[in-house]
Formats: sequence, C-alpha cells, structure tokens
Amino acid sequence: MGKNKSISCCFTVIAFVKRLVSRIGKQSRPWPPSLPRELQFLDVAARLRVDFDAITMASTDFGKFSREIPAAVICPSSEDDIVALVRSSYASASSSPFSIAARGQGHSLRGQAMASGGVVVDMRAMAINSGRISVCGSALYADVGGEQLWIDVLNATLWHGVAPSSWTDYLYLTVGGTLSNAGISGQSFRHGPQISNVKELDVVTGRGEVVTCSRDMNSELFCAVLGGLGQFGIITRARIAVEQAPSRVKWVRMLYHDFSAFTRDQEYLISIHVNGGDEGMKQGLDYVEGSVVTSQLSPASNWRSSSFFSQTDHSKISSILANQQHDILYYLEVAKYYDHLTVDTVDGELEVLLSGLSFIPGLIFTKDVSYVDFLNRVRSEELKLRSKGQWDVPHPWLNLFVPKSRILDFDVGVFKGILRHSSNLVGPILVYPMLRSKWDDRMSAVIPGEEIFYCVGLLHSSPNVTTTLDECKEDHQYLVLEEHNKKILEFCEEASIEVKQYLPNYRSRAEWMNHFGPKWEVFKERKNKFDPLAILSPGQRIFN
Ligand code: FAD
Repeated sequence: MGKNKSISCCFTVIAFVKRLVSRIGKQSRPWPPSLPRELQFLDVAARLRVDFDAITMASTDFGKFSREIPAAVICPSSEDDIVALVRSSYASASSSPFSIAARGQGHSLRGQAMASGGVVVDMRAMAINSGRISVCGSALYADVGGEQLWIDVLNATLWHGVAPSSWTDYLYLTVGGTLSNAGISGQSFRHGPQISNVKELDVVTGRGEVVTCSRDMNSELFCAVLGGLGQFGIITRARIAVEQAPSRVKWVRMLYHDFSAFTRDQEYLISIHVNGGDEGMKQGLDYVEGSVVTSQLSPASNWRSSSFFSQTDHSKISSILANQQHDILYYLEVAKYYDHLTVDTVDGELEVLLSGLSFIPGLIFTKDVSYVDFLNRVRSEELKLRSKGQWDVPHPWLNLFVPKSRILDFDVGVFKGILRHSSNLVGPILVYPMLRSKWDDRMSAVIPGEEIFYCVGLLHSSPNVTTTLDECKEDHQYLVLEEHNKKILEFCEEASIEVKQYLPNYRSRAEWMNHFGPKWEVFKERKNKFDPLAILSPGQRIFN
C-alpha cells in the first residue's frame, strides 16, 4: 500500500515537472504579471501562449486601426479549457480578475475581440481538433461549435441536403462572432437575422458556469447572448435551424437612377413574402440587397461586384455614370433559389416578381449560379484583393440601421451630399431593407423602432497597406474616410435621423446608454447577473 502510494506520488511529481518544462519551453517571456500565479499550475496553463506571433495575432483585427496587447493567448482544446480559464479569473476576484475576450476570426473593426493585459481565447484552435459540426437533417437543425466558420457549416449541412436559411454576405466568419452581433444579409427580410434562427446555445458565462439555454430554458441568458457583443458568455455550441437546400440560384441586378423608385421597389419585393400575393408569387424572393454606384465606386472597382458584371456591362454602366445627369446610380440585387423540381418554373416566377419594377429599361443583368457559389460570392473577390495586397489594409467601416421614414433624407444628405464628390471612396456601399418583426426584441441586438428599416453598410477601405499602427494613423486616405464617417453621424444627429449602429463602436457610457435606449437597464442587469466582474469582451468598451 505504502509502496503504491509513493509510486503514484512519484508519477504526479514527474507529470508536474513535465508540464512545467513544456510550458517554459513554449514561453519566450516570463509569466505575465497581470495573470494570477495560481493559473500557472492549472492544466489549462499548457494552452497559454505568450510568444510574439500569438500576441501579435491577438492584438490586431480586420479594421487595422486598433491595437491592444494581451498578456497571453489561450488555444483551447475543449470547452473545459475555457471554463477553467474563466473560473481562474472569477476566483481571483479578491486580487483583480483578468479580462478575457473570445476571438473568432478577428474580423472586428475596432478592437472588439481584444483584451488589453488579459487573455484572448483563440476560438479557432477548437476547430482544429475536432469537426464540431453535427447535422440532424430529419429534425432540421445543426449543432455547431461557436468557433466554426459559416463556410464549414454550409459544406457540412449540404452533405445532408439541408442548409441554414439566414446568412452573412461573407462566410469566413465564426458562428460565435456573428451571433454576438446579429448576422445579417439579403435573406434577413425573410428569415430574420442569424440570431433569429438559433434554437439552443451552450454558453460559458462570466462566472465560469456552463449553461445550456434556449427560448424555453434559461431564456434570459439565451436572449442576452444573442446580439450581446460577447458580454455575457462565450458561445461554445449553437443549434442552428436548417431547411431543405436548393441547388441553384437566379441572381439578378437592376440599375436605378431614382433613389425613391429603388427603395420603393425594394420595399415592395420584401413585402411579397409577408403578404402572400397570388399563388405564383407566394414564395417571393430569397434574397434582396442593393448598392450605391458612383463613378468612384463603379462596379468594376468594387469588391462586391467586380466579377458579377461582364466587361460589356461595365462599359454600359460607366457610360451612364459619365452622363452628368446620373453620376450616382443604385443597383437592386435579388436572388431566387431553385432546384430540379422548380427548374422549369423559376424563370416564369421571377418574371412575375420583377414585372412592374422601375429600373432603367434594359439595365437588368442576370446570372445563373450554384447555391454554394452564390452564398460564397465574396470569397472570390477576397482572393483577388489578397493577390493584389489589398485585403490586409485599414477598414474604417460604418454600418448603420436607418428607419424607413428617413431613408430619403439619408440619401440626400449622405449619398448625394457628403459622399457624392469624394474622390477617396473605395469599397462597396450597401443599402437594403429589413423587417423588425423578424427580430426578437428580447435579444440584445439593437434596431430602430420602425417595422421597415434599412441596413446601410459603408464598407470603405484605404488602398494603402500600413504595417504599423502609427503608419495607419498617418494614412491620409484612412483619415479622410474616418472624417466622412464622423460627418455622416453628425449629419444624422443634426437631422434627427435615429440611426442605430450595427457592429457598434462607442467610447463613453453615455453613448452606449443612448445606443441601447430602453434596453440599457436590462442589458446592465444581465451583465450583473452573468458576468458581474465584467471579465468578458472588454474590447467592446461597454463596462470596461
Ligand atoms: P471576432 O471579430 O473575433 O469577435 C467579435 C466579437 O464577438 C468580439 O467581441 C468577441 O469577443 C465576440 N466573440 C467572438 N466569438 C465569440 C463566442 N464564441 N462567444 C461569444 N462572443 C464571441 N456581418 C454581418 O452581419 N453580415 C455580413 O454580411 C458581414 N460581412 C462581413 C464581411 C467581411 C469581409 C467582414 C470582415 C465582416 C463582415 N461582417 C458581417 C461583420 C462580422 O459579422 C463581425 O465582424 C463579426 O464580429 C466577425 O466575426 P469574427 O468571427 O471575426 O468575430
């Protein structure tokens, strides 16, 4: 008995020393002083990285204008590692808890996935170890890890003949990252944002508890986390609703010079599904978006459309833009899905749906593509930009939700005002309507009060590659675009256009309170309940 005990003791010591040696080997810096010493002796410490590459990766994002240096990055192998990390911070309350930020793809724009002096959880590390996507085609859901990319969710679900119905335009984003915001695209008018299509979540709260939640079970946490900007917990699993997947898509763009006709037609098209209409139109369209086109932002130079239009189409559009009367155009973009059962009827249905629209005669362009190519349309543009070194550049984006009643004023003041003659525009400008009734107001996401509101995405990029933060801050193009953003927000304020920022970026408590409006008190109470020490997602700068 005594001998066995000393052998087991011996093994424990050897294992401990091995862990310590391996940890020391991985770390090129001493133990970060902002992290508690006790953490060093937990198993999870083996997953911490403090090397230059890891720290650099976690202190930058897609926006390229923020830099916060974390003490360490954790590459979790499972949910247990995340739980151990959060508990370690929560338990060190008497000293001071360290902050923790989940990082999906780091496609945030203003440091939202960073944690100055804290620990960044590299969620993508979990995707490497196991294919954490399981599809139940018969019950129409897929269970997916919060770290998974939507492109991988698409590919996995298609194997079972199904797919989620609500998407983002770009699929190389993580499930946890988009669900923390909302997840919107041209399908939102019909199916709601991605957060409206979640059936259940597993969440590691700021207290280090693992909670399964849904609309019926722990519903407060469920609603808090969806659109909750990472404030209440780390999503480790999401059960996403799926439906029968189509195989192909009719993809159409129509050009307008009259903004009111453009928005009237968009609103008509998103209402068809809601109102039913005649038998043949009951299904309506599957996707409705739109964009602004100026000579600066011609489709040829725009990463959302450079490959949609043919060379002849580009010349046609450019010659209209060259005409002084129409130096600003809009294109309405729609899609209708089909498969082998509807292949013979889809063209007829589309014709009926689009008949009576007021686009410029002859300026309608159609493509017939596979469902995957349609959903993954931004990827080919991304690869083109990457090959030219124009992807890894500063992105001073501004995304706004504008109430329908003020969208014409917004057009006059912003598209035809602030932006019209700017020679610094690079990147698409999206304009498309959504329906408030497709969102769940109990969730944390914030939208305007009117039933129809527009998403306006000013997806600017500076063409200048900057490698350091100081270079970026001196980049003239970037600064001009930031100035435009400032002017647009000031214009909305002065004209009393009650816009809401999507992917919000505020610095003061007063601004956040104004953003959440009547939802602020609930948001704050939920924070106290689920993350009372304000450990999570400090980069949003709401409670930190
Ligand atoms: P990150 O940037 O890594 O994280 C975002 C926030 O979520 C952070 O606060 C982070 O702490 C938190 N977070 C991350 N993972 C989790 C988790 N598992 N649990 C809890 N919190 C977490 N958005 C749209 O809605 N529609 C679009 O069409 C769209 N297109 C885009 C195209 C491009 C090219 C880019 C760069 C962004 C686009 N976005 C779009 C915005 C995108 O949804 C957000 O930037 C989102 O945050 C990116 O996800 P991510 O995985 O990179 O998250």
